[in-house]
Amino acid sequence: MPDKPIKTDLPAPFGFSQSSLQDYEDCNRRFQLRYIEQLRWPAVETAPVLENERRQLEGQQFHRMVQQYLLGLPVETLTHMAANSKSPNLPRWWTNFLDAREDSLAGLKDHVFFPEQALSAPLGAHRLTAKYDLIAVKDGFATIYDWKTSHKRPKDAWMEQRCQTRVYRSLLTRAGAHLNHGKPFEPGQVKMVYWYAEFPGETAEFAYDNARSNRDWDGLATLIKEISARQSFPLSEDEKTCGFCPYRSYCDRGKIALEASDELDEMAESGWEVNLEQIQEIEF
Ligand code: SF4
Repeated sequence: MPDKPIKTDLPAPFGFSQSSLQDYEDCNRRFQLRYIEQLRWPAVETAPVLENERRQLEGQQFHRMVQQYLLGLPVETLTHMAANSKSPNLPRWWTNFLDAREDSLAGLKDHVFFPEQALSAPLGAHRLTAKYDLIAVKDGFATIYDWKTSHKRPKDAWMEQRCQTRVYRSLLTRAGAHLNHGKPFEPGQVKMVYWYAEFPGETAEFAYDNARSNRDWDGLATLIKEISARQSFPLSEDEKTCGFCPYRSYCDRGKIALEASDELDEMAESGWEVNLEQIQEIEF
């Protein structure tokens, strides 16, 4: 446990992201430690450490390569980079990506690309921000692409209720007009696609509509209001969540990370994605 009382006041305005909101939904205390106390993670996420660090780096490399491809770097150059990387997974993911251009990513053709696009909008006393891997636009319709490098494919129902899916679609309808000649995208003109580098033919696609957009935005506003008013941030009641959490030692929930079991693998995989965004937030 920490030696001194930990802070509870949220700075205002605070830039909420899908990562911070997901942390709050997963565990109130994790949100407090990470975003109010701004503590870096003192314990490794999961064991074995080196394997996870390597996968994080590979994921970052893959995201960078796709971004460079979308910005026009020649395929041959990128293929050469993948082949000469020391990564055991990157060449396979890259080949899967190239092959998918004629298959599960065929919808990318003839679109205007906005890779690594950041959007932000006020929400209550705070702001909601998101950084998208890719927003592809054609004829007033927008597809949000998100690249996933996890080695298990989560269930679609689980992905649909994640903060990322709720935040990305609703924020695009409210803050993306400049990507559409100044005209806001209607919810029915937006869809979200998760593309899995390990499972290139198994994309998860989520359409959108007015009812879901209103429900998402109102729900996010309520969530942010609730976080702002909080005076205490309790520990997760579900101790399984702690096995992958870097703040275990602060909460007396064990110093040694769990080996990822099949049962908890999806949670751990999601944690990797969260951390990639978290690293970027801290760098800014
Ligand atoms: S160790 Fe458990 S209780 Fe503590 S922040 Fe992490 S998930 Fe929450």
